[in-house]
Amino acid sequence: MSEEIYLDHAATTPTDPEVVKAMMPYFTEKFGNASTIYKIGREARAALDEARHKVASFIGADDSEIVFTSCGTESDNMALKGVTTAREKKGNHIISTTIEHHAVHETLKVLEQRGFEITYVPVDKYGFVDPDDIKKAITDKTILISVIMANNEIGTIEPIAEIGKVAKENGVVFHSDTVQAITSIPVDVNKLGVDLLCMSAHKFYGPKGVGALYIRKGTPMVSLLHGGAQERRRRAGTENIPGIIGMTKALEIAEKRMADDAKQIAKLRDYLIEQLLDKVDDSFLNGHPARRLANNVNIGFRYVEGESMLLNLDALGIYASTGSACSSATLEPSHVLLAIGLAHEEAHGSVRFTLGRETTEEQLNTVIKKFPPIVERLRMMSPIYQKGK
Ligand code: PLP
Repeated sequence: MSEEIYLDHAATTPTDPEVVKAMMPYFTEKFGNASTIYKIGREARAALDEARHKVASFIGADDSEIVFTSCGTESDNMALKGVTTAREKKGNHIISTTIEHHAVHETLKVLEQRGFEITYVPVDKYGFVDPDDIKKAITDKTILISVIMANNEIGTIEPIAEIGKVAKENGVVFHSDTVQAITSIPVDVNKLGVDLLCMSAHKFYGPKGVGALYIRKGTPMVSLLHGGAQERRRRAGTENIPGIIGMTKALEIAEKRMADDAKQIAKLRDYLIEQLLDKVDDSFLNGHPARRLANNVNIGFRYVEGESMLLNLDALGIYASTGSACSSATLEPSHVLLAIGLAHEEAHGSVRFTLGRETTEEQLNTVIKKFPPIVERLRMMSPIYQKGK
């Protein structure tokens, strides 16, 4: 098989070798538990404190506002369940959107079963949330607003700062799922006016199994995990020091190259979009042409199924996704694509390519050459497709 082409960076990224190198000593000679008082424990504590400072600085936060977690999903769960549990006496109303990641969407369903009322604000055809719609949905029972910053499927970037203003004016706690945004676009907790945001290292060339939650000082919060006194009693459990060091290193690397990467990747993104739309009839772009993540290409191909396209690409060593990574094992159409107004068949026929630092024009040329014939062949087998109708 020829070279493998990985175009699913929104699902996960390869761990940067520099990150692996930085983590290694913390598995072996520096293996101490940060809660112990002898030398190697103190060393682990010092490394943890320094890492916390770097993570906090990256988003303009104070060190004490960072809680290390195991992933983006845990951070989202802690934000939503933690705040609503702490504030349930004040009200039972939550505002969110129809395009959240499953980590938020499914958590909200659980909260609904517990008696919370959720307003799902709709989005326009590009996937944009209107801050005015958020404002109109606020009642005297509203205790939390949760809006994704950059959508994992269609890449649309939401007006988070404007929504932050609305939340602040109305005294409502504001959470944003920033898992896809961190290191792709600038994220500053004060400029955005968020009270809670999350990150997951494996989305930005860090290791899997480590993330963080930012909790603005004064935000009501109840822990999900009880036990030891780690993380200022907000999240019990021995800290994953190698993972945390890896995440910090990944942020350090991103800080240096973020702006250049975004420029270069966006150029490749636009090239892939233009070429695929040009070479395949009955195709359309999902999400906004400009206000989207630099690495996101999501295209709908009518009269053909996403799963079949993915399997054919897989056979050629080209890796992409349909719907989000978590839902691509199911046959349910993506709720995000339905929310932007696609019909079920259109949502099923959409493919997401997400580019990364190591993506080259040559790789994209291979996709541009090999993908259109796959669509053509699958359409020929489709009973509903008539060429040149
Ligand atoms: N939120 C968004 C927007 C995501 O894209 C993802 C992962 O795809 C998550 C949350 C969950 O992150 P993790 O895989 O670290 O649990």
